[in-house]
Amino acid sequence: MKKYNILTILLSVLTILVIFATFFIIPDDVQKYRIIDCHEHIQSIKQADKTIAAMDRVGIGKVILVGSPWFTITMNEKYGFTRYDWNNSQLLKIVEKYKGRFEAWPTINPLDSDKLDKLKSNIEKGATGLKLYTGHGFPSSLHPGTYLFHPIALDDPTMLPIYEYCEKNFIPICFHVNPGPTKPGFAQELIAVLDAFPDMKVSVPHYMLSSIMTSRLRTFLETYPNLWTDTSFGFEDYQVAGLKRFSKNVKKYQDLFREHSDRIMFATDNVITSAGFKTADWLYEHMQCYVDMLTRDEYTCSFVKDKQGKVMQLKGLELSEDILEKVFYKNYEEFTSRKPVGTVIKREIDWSRMNTTKLNRKPGQAFPPPISESK
Ligand SMILES: [Zn+2]
Repeated sequence: MKKYNILTILLSVLTILVIFATFFIIPDDVQKYRIIDCHEHIQSIKQADKTIAAMDRVGIGKVILVGSPWFTITMNEKYGFTRYDWNNSQLLKIVEKYKGRFEAWPTINPLDSDKLDKLKSNIEKGATGLKLYTGHGFPSSLHPGTYLFHPIALDDPTMLPIYEYCEKNFIPICFHVNPGPTKPGFAQELIAVLDAFPDMKVSVPHYMLSSIMTSRLRTFLETYPNLWTDTSFGFEDYQVAGLKRFSKNVKKYQDLFREHSDRIMFATDNVITSAGFKTADWLYEHMQCYVDMLTRDEYTCSFVKDKQGKVMQLKGLELSEDILEKVFYKNYEEFTSRKPVGTVIKREIDWSRMNTTKLNRKPGQAFPPPISESK
């Protein structure tokens, strides 16, 4: 009898502890949505604690950290595409320390002759994806007539072994490509890569830089079944412009989400650094803003102001529960769990929906930025 009592007490205490732990360790929203944020940059492991604090407040269970060159971290062009190996190694350390809360998707420099070996080595160390910046159309002001992130074409022969490796080993790519009219050739380069590697899983972030010209995004998604996109707009100025754009055209973007609800993943694309203003609160606000934009009919973000400097009342998309579940985590799980085999591309890009000129171009050929773009 006595034994039975002790066992009962022990079991009761254990049950209470488990319930207690569930309430305090896993925030409510994580239980509801288990949000996965598939695109963030971080300077080093020193910023991981404040990232976790913001994630827990928003209800983000996991963040995918993408490798960054020092230019992305500092926004100072003189650093260019450097220190990425160091940043990649920081991501791996974060993944190791905070089990289950992060993934590392390191980057490579397209000009490195040992880029494939570096990628393989990072995958062996625990990386689960790849981040590529070729196709990012930032025109260099230090080297006029060149792009900072696009020194060679997306379909340059030296890049093909990278895609081959990713396709064969089911390594998804976060591929920042701007296929718009101000970046001659980029759209065709991307099309060449997607045609040559139909089983490769690719996410082109920021609504493929086509949240104004959504017909371009739509024709890409409708043509390539393994191409996905994410909800982030990029750094703060772009985020502000994007949130205002969505607020003004709620129906247009509700339709986009409804019609492509399986292919859009949640992402906030913050660049988390040691800069004084980038506190856990700052990060929380920038992440929460995206959640509000998707879930609410009206919301405000402290950094989205009108011309008079007053915080604006914004209209959100107030998406259905079913779509939110997909965007917040199910699409990412699908994106990374099912390896495509034998994908057949059944249609061609409809150029009448692209608002981009199709150029005469040889495979692997890269074009310089238009004169108007380089300062
Ligand atoms: Zn990014």
